[in-house]
Amino acid sequence: MKNPLSKQILMIALGGNALIRKGQTGTIEEQFVNLRLPIRQVADLADDYRIIITYGNGPQVGNLLLQQDCCHAVPKLPLEILVAQTQGQIGYMIESTLDSELLIQGKNRDIVSLLSYVVVDRDDPAFARPSKPIGPVYTREKAAELSFPTAETPKGYRRVVASPRPITIVEKKEIKKLIDQDFIVICCGGGGIPVTREGRTFHGIDAVVDKDLASARLAREIGVDLFLIATDVDGAYRNFGREDAELLPSLSPAEAQKYLDAGHFGEGSMRPKIEAAIEFVEHGGRKTLITSISAISRAVKGQAGTVVTLQPLQP
Ligand code: ADP
Ligand code: MG
Repeated sequence: MKNPLSKQILMIALGGNALIRKGQTGTIEEQFVNLRLPIRQVADLADDYRIIITYGNGPQVGNLLLQQDCCHAVPKLPLEILVAQTQGQIGYMIESTLDSELLIQGKNRDIVSLLSYVVVDRDDPAFARPSKPIGPVYTREKAAELSFPTAETPKGYRRVVASPRPITIVEKKEIKKLIDQDFIVICCGGGGIPVTREGRTFHGIDAVVDKDLASARLAREIGVDLFLIATDVDGAYRNFGREDAELLPSLSPAEAQKYLDAGHFGEGSMRPKIEAAIEFVEHGGRKTLITSISAISRAVKGQAGTVVTLQPLQP
């Protein structure tokens, strides 16, 4: 067996669509079946990298919130608790699917899922301007009748909640120790449970941190080499949604920033991925890959997706 420390650290951030695909109702059976596609590719990579898996919870946490709105028989739970619930739920689904895939491939690796807190600033301006889309998609007419704030996204109208910037991942030291011993670590689910720090205590706060920004922060804090963001499009596009849309195969942080400033990337969706990609490579990361969940293996080989790196590939 290779010395784990000789292997590069690969972080894979799985989008909500790894579990719920466009057009599906999102039953648990569907979610387990969908997970096999990305997780099989993670298992393929398990011998060559130390691996961290992070994951989003947008569709799931939005659905839980909706379930609460429908039931008045029991007390309502704050958003921070719903984030913790989805962290556990999806962590279990990823861990058990990965366990099965490793077994099928005859690989023996230890896996651990970790509850993760992420520290945010209670004065973050995001609390005054909900921007993170969660839960199901509504038509314009339906959205106008709802009691909570919604915003138009490329997928349709969705509920939006506050999404403050992540400052630090509380369990970073534990995560680093575990990956250095070759555990596959599943963490930072749903962007982490948002907490504020007062002296030596933590307090949960109503928000959903973007999982790409939280992942980039953790990646930087523990010295990840390769950061892969797996989502439901094959990469970052310029002029997304227009007839002249074009996949951007390779970007330097400066080029990525230029497209960001020109408004090419959707708020709360592709924008945080690009911001995360820039943050990671500007703080010691080798490269960030943005690709679809079906192309994880090909993207690692440089054959798919958008790569953000300090030394962009020559065309
Ligand atoms: P995830 O759950 O993977 O984080 P998101 O919905 O947050 O998924 O982000 C992916 C979505 O970003 C795509 O489905 C697409 O609709 C949207 N998007 C916005 N701008 C762009 C762009 N410029 N290029 C590609 N996708 C974009
Ligand atoms: Mg997202």
